[in-house]
Amino acid sequence: MPTTFWFPMYCNDFLASTKIAVMTTEEIGAYTLLLCHAWQDPQCSLPADEETLKKLGRISGDISNIRACFIVKRGRLVNERLLKEWVKANHNKEMASQSAKQRWDKKRTTDAMRSHIRTPCSSPSPSPSPKEEDRIASTVQKPSSTLTDELWIQSFKTNPLYTGIDIDLQLKRAQSWLQTNAPRRQFTRKYFGNWMTGEIGKKPMIAESLGRPCQTRVKRGLEFTPCNKPATTMIGTRPVCAEHDVKKDAL
Ligand SMILES: [Zn+2]
Repeated sequence: MPTTFWFPMYCNDFLASTKIAVMTTEEIGAYTLLLCHAWQDPQCSLPADEETLKKLGRISGDISNIRACFIVKRGRLVNERLLKEWVKANHNKEMASQSAKQRWDKKRTTDAMRSHIRTPCSSPSPSPSPKEEDRIASTVQKPSSTLTDELWIQSFKTNPLYTGIDIDLQLKRAQSWLQTNAPRRQFTRKYFGNWMTGEIGKKPMIAESLGRPCQTRVKRGLEFTPCNKPATTMIGTRPVCAEHDVKKDAL
């Protein structure tokens, strides 16, 4: 587990602690050294044997005051408060690295889309062939640094922006619209990208057509009941109407 190199020290708690209050300055120094050693441990723990503790804390004699700040967990010593901060720090670090990875992946996807935006998907025949869809869905062998058609379509499916939109259905609709209205135009990524941008604009209607009632609780007389107006969007998993489409109501 990745660990940060610092931990928060709550001076008020530290000074108010009765366990700390009974320690000598030397014991406080040893205790602080032990907390640092625990922080760097993969489990945020210390060996339970006294001799090792004394060495790590650079202290001799009685260490019962220090020992009182730790509990035994699976044969190791753990300071519960430190462990709590350690878990929090690691969680935050993991979240930060995940979102950095997502930003990086997104950037790569966007770059790849840009470099492919002018690549026509269809053969240069005057009208799209009926096998167009199969071709688009098929995996095209390209260098791994570029986006295949399949991955390109997949990127719509995994993008939260398009949540609630049936991408496969839109592919069919976009193709048949082109076939009917502009048979000479090629089915390109740019065309489908524009089509999907239009679909995002229609998203409120899509949510409405799902017939979900707004789940925001409103006061009616003496009690709170769901608003129940047709939802125009989702906040997380909660359908909300246009009137309640504000983040603060989600809290
Ligand atoms: Zn509502």
